[in-house]
Amino acid sequence: MPDAPWIRDAEINGVGDPPVYCPVCGYDCVTIFKDRNGDVFGCERCIQEQDSWEWMEDEKERTRPDWAYE
Ligand SMILES: [Zn+2]
Repeated sequence: MPDAPWIRDAEINGVGDPPVYCPVCGYDCVTIFKDRNGDVFGCERCIQEQDSWEWMEDEKERTRPDWAYE
């Protein structure tokens, strides 16, 4: 027996799916990011992507001691 039309609609449109909340930031999200151990560390709302070279420059700037600004 085929599913009732409203069930098919729900499957196609995702109607009635409860939102999934990120365990890190608490916002509803569609993508969860995990580390290699499978531990969730964020979602698309609370994870930032950055060019690694840019990041390294930022780090250098951030960790430079105050006297180096003379
Ligand atoms: Zn999040």
